[in-house]
Amino acid sequence: MQRYRILIDGQWRDAANGAVFASENPYLGEPWAEIPDCGSADVEAAVDAAARAFDAGVWSGMKPSARGLVLMRIADIVEQNADHLARIEVRDNGKLLAEMANQCRYMANWYRYFGGLADKVEGRVPPIDKDGVFAFVRHEPLGVCALITPWNSPLLLLAWKLAPALAAGNTVVIKPSEFTSASTLEFLRLIETAGLPAGVVNAVTGTGPAVGEPLVTHPRVRKIAFTGGVAAGRRINELAARDFKRVTLELGGKSPNIVFPDADLDAAALGIISGVFAATGQTCIAGSRLLLHEDVHDIVLEKLLARVRDVRIGDPMDPETEIAPVATRAQKARILDYIRIGVEEGATLALGAENLDRGMTDNLVSPTLFTAVDNGMRIAQEEIFGPVLCVLSFRDEDEAVQIANDTVFGLAAGVWTSDMSRALRMAERIRAGTVWVNTYRATSYTAPFGGLGQSGIGRESGSRAIHEYLEEKAVWLAEPRLVANPFIRR
Ligand code: NAD
Repeated sequence: MQRYRILIDGQWRDAANGAVFASENPYLGEPWAEIPDCGSADVEAAVDAAARAFDAGVWSGMKPSARGLVLMRIADIVEQNADHLARIEVRDNGKLLAEMANQCRYMANWYRYFGGLADKVEGRVPPIDKDGVFAFVRHEPLGVCALITPWNSPLLLLAWKLAPALAAGNTVVIKPSEFTSASTLEFLRLIETAGLPAGVVNAVTGTGPAVGEPLVTHPRVRKIAFTGGVAAGRRINELAARDFKRVTLELGGKSPNIVFPDADLDAAALGIISGVFAATGQTCIAGSRLLLHEDVHDIVLEKLLARVRDVRIGDPMDPETEIAPVATRAQKARILDYIRIGVEEGATLALGAENLDRGMTDNLVSPTLFTAVDNGMRIAQEEIFGPVLCVLSFRDEDEAVQIANDTVFGLAAGVWTSDMSRALRMAERIRAGTVWVNTYRATSYTAPFGGLGQSGIGRESGSRAIHEYLEEKAVWLAEPRLVANPFIRR
């Protein structure tokens, strides 16, 4: 068993109460690491350290260019250790090594991009409509930010938050998912040589109620950046609202992938597969509702079944594997429940019936495909977070838009067509934070990412994301002047 420790004020520590919990390898079903089981005393110590570091100005007072260089050193370290970090991620969340290695390498870009941005945050001079005054706008860091991450892409989703938070001059307390804490703690150990002063980055581990909530409600925490499910997001939003804290919330989705008859159907079939079956469906952007035009419904379905029927399911470390286990037994139980619900609701189980017999002996779930789905069914409305595709049929653009937007979510959508006018019309009419045309599941450090409705609040990535971690301050400079009447506003 590997033993991990939390990081507070530059010191590696056990939880104050000495407790640990085990992290389990989802494929082998065995515990492999011990993680500190923290409580509010650890949260208090971590926020204190972050607050002291912020107040001392060891990071916010550093020249932005120097802060940027530290972030770029973090990028180099991430790149050099991408495979090592990916192997830890796979041990914890069971996703394919090939996918996680790629993700860990690509993740370096967020640190490099926001490192480059650190010294390009410029104030501005508003054209004030009054005589004898000059005003300028400064962008200031918020203070202590809480960064709370889920289990599906722990290090990548941390990078989306940590890179802009640090570039802006904040200090942070990280709380990774209780299912995947090891990679975050290992990453923090690796970046010790990058030049971050003690207390700037702290990490505590444990559950949402025991660690997440005391962190969110701590009076010194000014902002919460969260990625996770809707239930936890709603709770965090409510707790944050009590003290008017800022939030970025990246939540779930039920994204439509829409195929028109004029599309390249082979490319579309592969895009659909990568949208919902890659990562065993455990992505917030899963294209889990497939909207097929009635003229190509059967052709696309046949292409999908031909590719997915014999998919290779198994060991995530094996380069031949295409579908790896889901992250936890609870997640598998949830997916199987939804498959049962789909059958009860009257959808046709075109692929994946064996899931219902396989039981709970492992964390593997085979690709599952429901046809004849009505958009009102629970399987079409609720996020399943597994390899389950719901296929619906439509007649024309208006109907496609109506079905696509008939959801509480609004994270992403895919449109497959060779008609660029149609592509632009659809992009305008679909309510989602991202619309992909003739591609799917592409993200970049340069493009904003986030959702509408129950998919969340705020945007990560792209140059404006740094402002999610900055506050504007207007500074007025005036010649001293004797005003005629001090009781009237100037
Ligand atoms: P989750 O909501 O259960 O947990 C996410 C994190 O929040 C964990 O660290 C957890 O301990 C913590 N948490 C839970 N309750 C809390 C509380 N009351 N207060 C503070 N912290 C709390 O999510 P998960 O199951 O780990 O991840 C899967 C979910 O994440 C899916 O719904 C998925 O769509 C979503 N997700 C969204 C995005 C996005 O960018 N929109 C990306 C990936 C995953």
